[in-house]
Amino acid sequence: MTFDAHTHLFPPAQALARESIAGRDLGFREIYGDPGAVIADAPVLLAALQKDEVEAALVLGFAFAKEREITEQNEYLCAVAAETPGTIVPCATVNPALPDWEREARIALDKGARGFGELRPGTQGWDPLGSEGGRLASLAGEAGVALIWHSSEPVGHSYPGKEGGLSARELIEVSSASPDVKMVGAHLGGGASFYLSMPEVRAATPNLLFDTSAASLLYDSGAIASLVDVVGSDRVLFGSDFPLRWPGSELKKVISGFDAATSKAIAGENARKHLC
Ligand SMILES: [Zn+2]
Repeated sequence: MTFDAHTHLFPPAQALARESIAGRDLGFREIYGDPGAVIADAPVLLAALQKDEVEAALVLGFAFAKEREITEQNEYLCAVAAETPGTIVPCATVNPALPDWEREARIALDKGARGFGELRPGTQGWDPLGSEGGRLASLAGEAGVALIWHSSEPVGHSYPGKEGGLSARELIEVSSASPDVKMVGAHLGGGASFYLSMPEVRAATPNLLFDTSAASLLYDSGAIASLVDVVGSDRVLFGSDFPLRWPGSELKKVISGFDAATSKAIAGENARKHLC
């Protein structure tokens, strides 16, 4: 069972309004202010999954600043998920810097959201290790859903959207602060995996998983093998970062060179176990 654990969708109305949204949302503008940055809706994702023979996908929202865009996106993701049970698995967008964020988060949970993300606290202006981050982790723990953190490399080339997520250090601190709550460090966790070689760090983060989203844009072809080597195949989730990359071609690269059992775990088994 193949499962893409990192995809992004926007409602068609937001795709049409991207210029005006970019005018009022700085984080959105950074990435999608460029008209060449692709935005996809559900039919495009479903066609990609079918063509690439990937059975299901976790669908993430964008870390919008304002409630209006957050609500619109959450309603869309939950609605398309309800129409495609078992194929589109929705996550909800939250902005814990807003006073009433928890109400919106609970509405999305009631509609079937299986996680919160992709979280970019730096873009939205809240502290993942502060009281807002603590409340979000409690809510996720109470609901049994995951937190999916945008994580970025502290070095290397810059690109739109590199900042705003967690550093390797923050990812480890956030996950060890709430070890009962499933957490995913996107984009190979921004290098956090290396520190799981430290026995006390590994012991403190049994909840921390890593997705492979955009790996082929960031790392050379040995990066996934190094990740698996350090953290173990049971903590690695295939994710593409669709529509930035397409699921089929990414999956092929991600599982290349692994034995059948490891490939199966990374390609979908782990995501099914932890996220669905
Ligand atoms: Zn990301």
